[in-house]
Amino acid sequence: MTKLNSKIPEGTLEEKWTKYKSTVPLVNPANKRSLEIIIVGSGLAGASAAASLAELGYKVKCFCFQDSPRRAHSIAAQGGINAAKNYQNDGDSVYRLFYDTIKGGDYRAREANVYRLAEVSSNIIDQCVAQGVPFAREYGGYLSNRSFGGTQVQRTFYAAGQTGQQLLLGAYSALERQVGLGTVTMHSRHEMLDVVVIDGKARGIIARDLITGKLERHFGHAVLLASGGYGNVFYLSTNAMGSNVTAAWKAHKKGAFFGNPCFTQIHPTCIPVSGDHQSKLTLMSESLRNDGRIWVPKKQGDTRKPKDIPEDERDYYLERRYPAFGNLVPRDVASRAAKERCDAGYGVGASKMAVYLDYTAAIERYGKVQANKLNLHNPTAQQITEMGKDVVKEKYGNLFEMYEKITDENPYETPMRIYPAVHYTMGGLWVDYDLMTTVPGMYALGEANFSDHGANRLGASALMQGLADGYFVIPYTMGSYLSNEIRTKAIPTDHPAFVETEKKVQENIDRLINIKGSKSVDYFHKKLGKIMWDKCGMARNEKGLTEAISEIRSLREEFWKNVRIPGGQNEFNPELEKAGRVADFLELGELMCKDALHRKESCGGHFREDSQTEDGEAKRDDDNFCYVATWEHKGVGEFELHKEELKFDVVHPSQRSYK
Ligand SMILES: Cc1cc2nc3c(=O)[nH]c(=O)nc-3n(C[C@H](O)[C@H](O)[C@H](O)COP(=O)(O)OP(=O)(O)OC[C@H]3O[C@@H](n4cnc5c(N)ncnc54)[C@H](O)[C@@H]3O)c2cc1C
Repeated sequence: MTKLNSKIPEGTLEEKWTKYKSTVPLVNPANKRSLEIIIVGSGLAGASAAASLAELGYKVKCFCFQDSPRRAHSIAAQGGINAAKNYQNDGDSVYRLFYDTIKGGDYRAREANVYRLAEVSSNIIDQCVAQGVPFAREYGGYLSNRSFGGTQVQRTFYAAGQTGQQLLLGAYSALERQVGLGTVTMHSRHEMLDVVVIDGKARGIIARDLITGKLERHFGHAVLLASGGYGNVFYLSTNAMGSNVTAAWKAHKKGAFFGNPCFTQIHPTCIPVSGDHQSKLTLMSESLRNDGRIWVPKKQGDTRKPKDIPEDERDYYLERRYPAFGNLVPRDVASRAAKERCDAGYGVGASKMAVYLDYTAAIERYGKVQANKLNLHNPTAQQITEMGKDVVKEKYGNLFEMYEKITDENPYETPMRIYPAVHYTMGGLWVDYDLMTTVPGMYALGEANFSDHGANRLGASALMQGLADGYFVIPYTMGSYLSNEIRTKAIPTDHPAFVETEKKVQENIDRLINIKGSKSVDYFHKKLGKIMWDKCGMARNEKGLTEAISEIRSLREEFWKNVRIPGGQNEFNPELEKAGRVADFLELGELMCKDALHRKESCGGHFREDSQTEDGEAKRDDDNFCYVATWEHKGVGEFELHKEELKFDVVHPSQRSYK
């Protein structure tokens, strides 16, 4: 069994990162100029890393498949970004952010990494403010905060419901500055299709120019993957349509172990599936749980309109079951509770697979505060409602507008209907403390790595992690590897390893395009998504997972015999791109089910029906599963498990309670 070395520095939690930064080997400025770094991805993780490493003096080549780095999936992030600034004076601290994250992840994350994340969180806000990111502010000018699930403090910084967009514009500006200076070469509309490994080290990539279809070879002394998450393996998810696993999967096939692949986050507040025609689901930000109340009727199969159901006939089930956190329990808990109510027959809407998210109380509360502010004595109910709506509009207006556009219902007047949907993947490429994968010289950042979130990510922590990785972690940890590479000259791309890797990529494309079958790529993707959702989704059991593995294998076989890809390969061909990505999802899906099958415990988002407490909560088995499950690729459908044992020196794992 390979021994995984997580390279956690010695010392107390508080000392580790500070000491690491002061002792990590450095690369002098002259040597930096001759070291080349490839970065795949220009979302928050990739753009921040590219800008920071180029600013340090390295030669950076950055790749993305969109037409501009500004279109990375990160732009979709709505609700906010966490940081332990304690601006609210409500008891926050680095330790509390660290503790909340470890507990929120159900004790399946590494303490040292999470502590570092909490430590650098404040720097991120300062960095972004300096870039001009327009975070929401209080009247007096201070940055404003709101709450997200799994915490009892307000530590989430936000820019209305468009935090990801504003943060990405900040990172993009920093990146473009380096493009202007000539230190970053940007390759948009390029898809990485394999990693080149020479003498055991990552030395470059093969990328396809998506406009011309031409394959290109690119050398780098190191390769960073910041290629995002793989939630789209479920077909329907809140992710951008293009999000995929290809870069990470190709790296996995070249020796990078995959960590906790089955850890998927199902977000509780999404617009419910409305039919067979959909290719995408829409998130209603978790920020809405700050003020919205979630409920279902107390009577099964109640068909009355929500406004006709009196208060005492409503079940505010999160407030009832979890009084300490109420509507702000973590996502895994809220999602399971919604499913439980709907499965028991209390769901609402046409499909009965939805619950209400209601703003009536918040509108009234804000309206009264507003009346007081304006010194309005005895305001009418109508005045209160109007003023309350204005406040809600200011805080969440774009989200309400989006909901109305999609459902044609006005959420100021009638509660929104929501249901859980696939949203984020905690699993990803296994990395050590330096963010290096098991292939020397290959790193993974942002959602692409198995990350600091354990078995469940807390809201507003993905943006924090992606930017921590890019702005504040990788600029230091790269020195540890690159200081030993200063004598390595750029390897010419006619080296046999480049030639051979490109040949394999070409063969794969030829194989796909020549199948000329009768079923579309989407046909296979949809089928895979359904298997994954039904059997490796919100609830998992041995029978279902075993069936899923064999169903995925048959589907994969059928795909390679019968997929139809119109058009040619030497042109812009989105169907060909999709086919390559779905081929990789068809292999990943099997690994996810195998991982879920082997982990015979429930933890965070991984809910095994055979491992639950009497009141239906996830029941961990720390004696047997307190580890990161790390999988080595051994051939299609063949994987070997390696375990990174998790040690908790500071926070002692206990049954997670939000009651
Ligand atoms: C609707 C929605 C709302 C969210 N809201 C929040 C929030 O409020 N707060 C929060 O903390 N998190 C939120 N998240 C999660 C968060 O947005 C993501 O986890 C995060 O943005 C991922 O950033 P990233 O840089 O790792 O990847 P991405 O932003 O997904 O970027 C991936 C990059 O990799 C490139 N790429 C991928 N594959 C290849 C390839 N093979 N070749 C070349 N390039 C490639 C892409 O072009 C892109 O540039 C939200 C997620 C969703 C879906």
